[in-house]
Amino acid sequence: MPTTTERLQRDEVWYCLDCDHFCLGDGGEYYMVHDAIWYRVTYGQECEGMLCIGCLEGRLGRGLTAADFTDCPLNHEKRERGSARLRDRLNRSR
Ligand SMILES: [Zn+2]
Repeated sequence: MPTTTERLQRDEVWYCLDCDHFCLGDGGEYYMVHDAIWYRVTYGQECEGMLCIGCLEGRLGRGLTAADFTDCPLNHEKRERGSARLRDRLNRSR
């Protein structure tokens, strides 16, 4: 019987919409940004999915900073355990 993680890994929603980067797990890029940012980068698209940091920044046209992320437990955890560039953005003041 597959574990929860194995089932999640087979589910396409955990892959970046643009580059197929796998966003879940330690060192991954699973995070929450404010709705306004998410709507802006997914406007006119189905947004059942994820974007890695690089692709979200590409769509947004600028780098993310700590202020773009919501104040949720997931982001606090990723500040310690996310990918190098996710940790960098979560700790970047501007
Ligand atoms: Zn990507």
